[in-house]
This record gives sequence, structure tokens and C-alpha cells, in this order.
Amino acid sequence: MLVSQILKSKGSEGVVTVQPGLTVAQAAEVLSQKKIGALVISKDGKTLHGIVSERDVVREIGRRGPDCLKDSIDSIMTAKVVTCARDDQTDAVLQKMTDGRFRHIPVVDGALLVGLISIGDVVKARLSELAMEKEALEGMIKGF
Ligand code: AMP
Repeated sequence: MLVSQILKSKGSEGVVTVQPGLTVAQAAEVLSQKKIGALVISKDGKTLHGIVSERDVVREIGRRGPDCLKDSIDSIMTAKVVTCARDDQTDAVLQKMTDGRFRHIPVVDGALLVGLISIGDVVKARLSELAMEKEALEGMIKGF
């Protein structure tokens, strides 16, 4: 299965991005309001500046306490973002996520952001693929 198929099944909702310089508290508010686990940080909504996930926020609160909520997200984000392309195979993307120990990956076209998929999206797509394969195999065994 291709990344583009997952993006299509997710519909037309864009990626939630936030501006560099937002505070950690503001980022936590957006994560909570949008019910998502990661935010792409971008000045123009297209060019990647970094990624911040709920794990970064929790790590900093655990390390420094609530003082970190006033800091800029730039100080806790991951600047070296691993990305994938629309025509990448989802198995390869899952491998990248497993190797890098992260659950979110922006999809880019060249250097521009076109989507974001989570490990949950990949698992959901893989499960429906397995269900279709099972049905096809059962049909073959039963002689249909
Ligand atoms: P996550 O599992 O996605 O909550 O993220 C775990 C850690 O990996 C956090 O420090 C994130 O900032 C970082 N991270 C998340 N997604 C990516 C990505 N695509 N590339 C690089 N780092 C990431």
C-alpha cells in the first residue's frame, strides 16, 4: 500500500501546523483542542521548521516542571524531521517509525508539506489490507 492511499482515506483535512515561537503551553492547548499527538512547526504552513509531539511536552514537564510551559516550542521540538513521500510504501514508512521511535511522519512533495500520517493510520490501513487478503484467500479455498 502507498502513503497516498492513506492520505486519500484520511480525507481533505489539512495538517495542523503552528508558527515557530509559540509557547509550550500554547502548543499543548492546540494538541488538546485538535485531539492530536504532534504538531508540525512551520512559518508558512508548507516548509518544515520542526515537529513537536505530546511526548516532548511531557518529557520537558517531567524534567523541568511547569516552568517550561512559558518557553518557546523551538526549544523542545525536533528540528531534524524524518519525512516520507506520497509514493512511499507504508511498510517502509512503518520501518522508519520503528527505527526512529516516533509515531508521526510528515508527507512531503519535494520540500513542501502535503500531509501527515500517524502510526495509527498505518496500522489501520494494514489491518484493512489483511482483512481483504483473508477474504480473497478464503474465496479461493472455497472455490469461488
Ligand atoms: P512521537 O512518537 O511521534 O510522539 O514522537 C517521539 C519523539 O520523536 C519526539 O521527540 C518527537 O519530536 C520526535 N518525532 C516525532 N515525529 C518525528 C519525525 N517524523 N521525525 C523526527 N522526529 C520525530
